[in-house]
Amino acid sequence: MAGEPQADCLFCKIVAGNIPATVVRETETTFAFRDINPQAPTHVLVIPKVHYPDAASLAAADPAAAADVLREAGQIAADEKLDDHGYRIVFNTGAGAGQTVFHAHAHVLGGRGLQWPPG
Ligand code: 5GP
Ligand code: ZN
Repeated sequence: MAGEPQADCLFCKIVAGNIPATVVRETETTFAFRDINPQAPTHVLVIPKVHYPDAASLAAADPAAAADVLREAGQIAADEKLDDHGYRIVFNTGAGAGQTVFHAHAHVLGGRGLQWPPG
């Protein structure tokens, strides 16, 4: 069924506790943990507990969960004191844009200068 955990999904395994992660925050609907290969001093991944392959399909099927992910991203930015210098919330979508894990996730990046466009 749509949204159900997928046996072959890395982030579903992290939500289930089957793969360890450095947890930052958890809510009823979201899970946030530090990226294993950080690209900035703060690099946190925020995921919905439900499985959808990317952010747009999450938002279409479960807009409340998509909103929860965004709210958590903002809360983490505030907790990590990223507001003053700015930060970035990124949803890579599709392999051509660098998506490697096909469970919707927001990258929260900050703590250094961020260039635009990102390349
Ligand atoms: P994507 O490239 O799909 O936008 O982002 C996937 C992110 O997941 C990458 O930044 C990658 O470093 C991170 N990642 C991949 N495997 C693991 C893992 O096992 N644990 C954690 N914490 N992050 C992971
Ligand atoms: Zn998943």
